Amino acid sequence: MPLIHNFNSGPSILPKQVLEQAAAAIHDFNHSELSILEIGHRTSLFQDVLDEAVASLKELMELDQEHEVLFLHGGASTQFFQVPMNILDDSGSAAYLDCGTWGTKAIKEARLFGRVDVVASSKDRNYTYIPKDYRIPPDATYFHYTTNNTIEGTQVHDIPQTPVPLIADMSSDILSRVMDFNRFDLIYAGAQKNIGAAGVNAVIINKRILGKVSRRLPSMMDYRNHLENGSMLNTPPVFAIYVCMLTLRWLKEQGGVAAIEKINDAKARLLYDTLDALPVFRPKVDRADRSRMNVVFVIDQPELDAAFQEACKANGMVAIRGHRSVGGFRASLYNALPLSSVQALTELMRYFAQKNG
Ligand SMILES: *Cc1c(COP(=O)(O)O)cnc(C)c1O
Repeated sequence: MPLIHNFNSGPSILPKQVLEQAAAAIHDFNHSELSILEIGHRTSLFQDVLDEAVASLKELMELDQEHEVLFLHGGASTQFFQVPMNILDDSGSAAYLDCGTWGTKAIKEARLFGRVDVVASSKDRNYTYIPKDYRIPPDATYFHYTTNNTIEGTQVHDIPQTPVPLIADMSSDILSRVMDFNRFDLIYAGAQKNIGAAGVNAVIINKRILGKVSRRLPSMMDYRNHLENGSMLNTPPVFAIYVCMLTLRWLKEQGGVAAIEKINDAKARLLYDTLDALPVFRPKVDRADRSRMNVVFVIDQPELDAAFQEACKANGMVAIRGHRSVGGFRASLYNALPLSSVQALTELMRYFAQKNG
């Protein structure tokens, strides 16, 4: 069993074999006697890496012919404005679900480009639930939502039904569960949670939604240019894409998304069952909307807060701490986190509850 259990929320844990391969490639990439950091991006050495990363993502997500994969710079936060810039006309109106901090930021950026109709919000209860009864106007340019709220610990378990183009920020739960990804017209995800290393986004696009806005787009912001140039309009983040390729290769070896979903379910179930059984801890969000990636909880006796923090630290549990905006605790259970780390955490919780019960 590892001595360190990495519950970081992002950048976050990567498979050990990926770290070893990436470290070796920094010294000698594929017996080229060159580092992955010093090869040209327009060489066949790197083209093979990019092609494998794209092909693996398409395979793991079971994407159809209509959907294209891009690897772009700028983090998910750049997609907050690149999406409306490319798709929302000044005269149009986009529908957004406001169910967490990241979605709120996406809404703010979209308002720079057109009208935004917030169809529902869970702000009234600090984003501790997912709004269910809302109507998406049939003439909306698109509907945008965040599939998993990394900071608040909620997750949208079913894909919303809508006739309008569907767009999602999947940064913190992409590839963690089986979904019909082809129902989306655009998906974006920062790589640093489930796909690989920080510094690159995966963007999946159905081309049918492009080319409909009247504004002029800077070259680097226009998805069509990136599609035409196969994610190589300029120098791509070579090393970050290499780490993504290795992580996707690892995920395929694990049996793909369906296989990792089983393990993710087991991890989340074990942690929530433990929290529910121990009165000292209290999960913060509505049971029906619990995230299987980010488990957010509190200790209601403030004097025990620091003691639990200390116990985690002493036992090698890294980053069991809530986001600075919400406080409390958060354990992130991304794909690369083994079940044994959750077993170690829940054992510690039971011991802590016994001592402080
Ligand atoms: C982490 C995260 C982001 C922000 O990603 P950056 O790459 O830092 O811009 C956006 N949305 C969600 C859901 C996230 O989890």
